[in-house]
Amino acid sequence: MKYISTRGKAPALSFEEAMLTGLARDGGLYVPETIPQMSHDDIAALAGLSYEETAFRVMRPFIGDSFTDAEFRDIIAKAYANFNHIARAPLTQLAPGHFLLELFHGPTLAFKDFAMQLIGQLFEVALKRRGERVTIVGATSGDTGSAAIEAFRGLDAVDVFILFPHGRVSEVQRRQMTTPADANVHALALDGDFDDCQARLKDMFNDFEFRDGVKLAGVNSINWARVLAQVVYYFSSAVSLGAPQRKVSFTVPTGNFGDIFAGYIAKRMGLPIDRLVVATNQNDILHRCLGGQGYFKGETIPSISPSMDIQVSSNFERALFFAYGQDGNAVAQLMDELQTGGFNVSQGAMEALSESFSSGRASEEETLATIAATLKSSGQLLCPHSAVGVKVAEQLRDPAVPMITLATAHPAKFPDAVERASGVRPPLPLRMADLYDRPERVSRIDNDLAAIESHIKGQITA
Ligand SMILES: *Cc1c(COP(=O)(O)O)cnc(C)c1O
Repeated sequence: MKYISTRGKAPALSFEEAMLTGLARDGGLYVPETIPQMSHDDIAALAGLSYEETAFRVMRPFIGDSFTDAEFRDIIAKAYANFNHIARAPLTQLAPGHFLLELFHGPTLAFKDFAMQLIGQLFEVALKRRGERVTIVGATSGDTGSAAIEAFRGLDAVDVFILFPHGRVSEVQRRQMTTPADANVHALALDGDFDDCQARLKDMFNDFEFRDGVKLAGVNSINWARVLAQVVYYFSSAVSLGAPQRKVSFTVPTGNFGDIFAGYIAKRMGLPIDRLVVATNQNDILHRCLGGQGYFKGETIPSISPSMDIQVSSNFERALFFAYGQDGNAVAQLMDELQTGGFNVSQGAMEALSESFSSGRASEEETLATIAATLKSSGQLLCPHSAVGVKVAEQLRDPAVPMITLATAHPAKFPDAVERASGVRPPLPLRMADLYDRPERVSRIDNDLAAIESHIKGQITA
């Protein structure tokens, strides 16, 4: 199994190499050269299996010979052992034909734990075998950072640095990043927004001297292993609603397009998915693009669903790569045009995108109203991101096809917005009840590449 770059000019890598590398050296993102297929019978055989066994069967073909079966089973078992629900990703029902996939039972209460906990274990095994250590740098709009820190804290072979936009993450998100006491954990509050954090991260990867000097590794949603981990719950949830005999659709609260792209991979593997619905907040570049208006950057406007406050959606490049018939040159050209504002998508590529994806957008008012209405109709308290999904799903769903909306975070991660909407302040789960009392540790830093790089060099623990 080989991985190739979406921009066509970086060497093909194995799963392990692509995972340790993150961003390709031509600036592109790694994707599998061919997408493994699961037959109708393979999918039917997933019924009733544990999440871990489903994960093994779905991901195994993508791993090649990077890990043995025994290693990989052990990695999966450890990755999901810290989840608070035995089903890992349980489904609940919101309304006739409308289901909620609860992806917030991991250690940091957001879906990113599914990928990050797995990546932590994969890195640990791979680096130990190689006798290497790496510096992990991530950019976060809130949830990625805490998930990465939980996954890597205390590991010997890794320092983890997380850039987050100062003042633009929720207090729970910030505290989850700034309170772990492990010496290999470093939280950096950047003076800028999430797109600035993401841009500086890309700059670090493109500074090859720095990249090689500190052995930089990335675990942002550009990392292929993260996308892969997320493919699993599309299978587990669809099968529990009757796939492969019955089609299902998904609505996904979307920012960087990593989560919904995992759904696209599941569909390409053979899972009978009818529609993949992209749900955005007021930062709606993806909704505008899928509506045929081109991909043009606007201003990022802070919202009550901050993990979706982005304008440049990094994994969308992967979707474009497939929509353009795996033409790396075409993608490289689009990404050049993006540097100066944006690009129009060709008619052929638009048709390819519309075969799988639909999109909708929810305003702040609609999001708040959906939190209140859903609590009333089903007793379910939604986080604002999940509420964006539920609102868009209600608008776009086909009554003949079950709709699964992904609940991407626990409501207690966003207590102010949830209380404002519903009058109910969601409590933190017991295991986190002392979060507000733990001491914080964070470095404030300018939006300046040289300053960030020298800070990182000075802080590395070994
Ligand atoms: C990261 C995140 C999203 C967006 O996911 P992408 O993979 O970036 O599209 C949505 N909701 C929550 C709570 C998140 O943490």
